[in-house]
Amino acid sequence: MIIEKFSMGVGDRFAHQGAAQLQAMVQAKADGVTVVPVWNKSHREHSIIHTAPDSVRAEAAAAVKALNWDGSYYVDADHIGLKNVDLFMASSDFFTLDVADFTGEAAPEADIKKFVDKYSKYVGKLEIPGIDAPLDITKQLIENIAKKYLLAVKQAGEIYRTIEAAKGEGNFVTEVSMDETDDPQTPVEMLFILAAVADENIPAQTIAPKFTGRFNKGVDYVGDVAQFEREFNEDLAVIAYAVKEFGLPENLKLSVHSGSDKFSIYEPIRKALKATGAGLHLKTAGTTWLEELIGLAMAGGDGLTVARDVYKSSLGRFDELCTPYATVIDIDPAKLPTADEVDSWTGEQYAAALRHDQSCELYNPDFRQLLHVGYKVAAEMGPRYLDALKEFAPIIAQNVTENIYDRHLKRIFI
Ligand SMILES: [Zn+2]
Repeated sequence: MIIEKFSMGVGDRFAHQGAAQLQAMVQAKADGVTVVPVWNKSHREHSIIHTAPDSVRAEAAAAVKALNWDGSYYVDADHIGLKNVDLFMASSDFFTLDVADFTGEAAPEADIKKFVDKYSKYVGKLEIPGIDAPLDITKQLIENIAKKYLLAVKQAGEIYRTIEAAKGEGNFVTEVSMDETDDPQTPVEMLFILAAVADENIPAQTIAPKFTGRFNKGVDYVGDVAQFEREFNEDLAVIAYAVKEFGLPENLKLSVHSGSDKFSIYEPIRKALKATGAGLHLKTAGTTWLEELIGLAMAGGDGLTVARDVYKSSLGRFDELCTPYATVIDIDPAKLPTADEVDSWTGEQYAAALRHDQSCELYNPDFRQLLHVGYKVAAEMGPRYLDALKEFAPIIAQNVTENIYDRHLKRIFI
């Protein structure tokens, strides 16, 4: 199973928007660009919403059938570890091996020594096609990288072998993710992490590093765009080099996690893909559910009441909802509208505050981020929320498709 050059990870917390999401890929295909969908849902999301991995497979299959999609599609066991991989085994064919829990824990001394000895031949000035200045590699640097990442990659190897034993070699796509670590990985770190991935015989087709800058949920990139661009291009060069040097899968590509809404880095990404011919997996941050709220607000009446109630409840439960996401959101409570203000808003005002249109002066990123983590509130509403999704399905679907196609696919791939 070889994943296509361009793919997009779409999340759908309440499992009602599969067809609306796929519609965006259908439109991209009509423009001549194939971007294949990967439906992803993490163990954390399943636990909060009380859904099981099988439901994602069922939703994906139904969407594909409804739209006569004849391309590939995948179901991603997102950020799984040894503890929960079994739950995803039957329904997934894309596995994101999360190694973040083990970065920083050192592998046994003997393993580190073996790794450093094996890769000492790269010590000195290493020329990598596509990178202007040669990389400065020292023995100490290789040792530091091994101490920081070797155990984590070995752990990924163990998860990979567990999946391979259950599903059979070549029957699924493997991604290695390190985005939920404290520090970004430099291109040199990426090089030796890929060496370790190859040593573990993990046929990784995508790799998700932590990039420089902040990738907050559902809002734009915060950081030095020029530095991001440099590092992104260096990562592409390192991957192309590592594929040849270490015998990794030819189609190995970068995966950008929490990649939705990072509008200010899309142009550098688009340029880099065009210049190098590299592929990309763009994993979104579960923002489809915000389009549901936008659609409900625009519908007015009961839809607007549901959207207002979700916000008011979320505001009252600020700490509880924000704590699990503390490292990936930046909310200034002083900039949040009060419950009374939101009650006085029209549906259009609510939608404009939430919709990610930076040119609109009503857009409020603090409001947007709080609602992003407020899906637990909607989950607790149960049938009231789900019935509203059904009642106002057309206007919601329109917003879901438009968000993926206009604000994402078009800007990066088309
Ligand atoms: Zn991630």
